[in-house]
Amino acid sequence: MKIACAGGGPAGLYFALLMKLRDPGHDVTIFERNAAGSANGWGVTFGDDLLAAGEALRKRPGVGTGN
Ligand SMILES: Cc1cc2nc3c(=O)[nH]c(=O)nc-3n(C[C@H](O)[C@H](O)[C@H](O)COP(=O)(O)OP(=O)(O)OC[C@H]3O[C@@H](n4cnc5c(N)ncnc54)[C@H](O)[C@@H]3O)c2cc1C
Repeated sequence: MKIACAGGGPAGLYFALLMKLRDPGHDVTIFERNAAGSANGWGVTFGDDLLAAGEALRKRPGVGTGN
């Protein structure tokens, strides 16, 4: 499947990652309007609970690799 992500923020990057984990054959392209290496100067904090939730989602049948 050809997939286009508008925006390379956390949501777009994680969505692209999940799609590749689900099927490495997916053709995923991320379109980011800002120049490579540019940053807005703030961060995203991924706490342990969010990382655990993401890992559980990745292991859900049909979402990630299940590994
Ligand atoms: C000042 C500030 C401080 C913050 N501090 C924290 C913090 O300390 N910890 C924390 O967890 N969260 C913080 N946040 C929140 C966090 O930044 C957001 O929750 C997170 O970035 C949202 O991710 P997103 O992928 O949904 O959107 P975004 O991060 O907004 O990503 C969207 C991307 O899409 C791109 N884009 C938009 N339109 C187009 C287009 N038409 N074509 C191509 N590209 C496009 C944008 O350039 C952007 O890179 C902060 C937010 C702000 C504003």
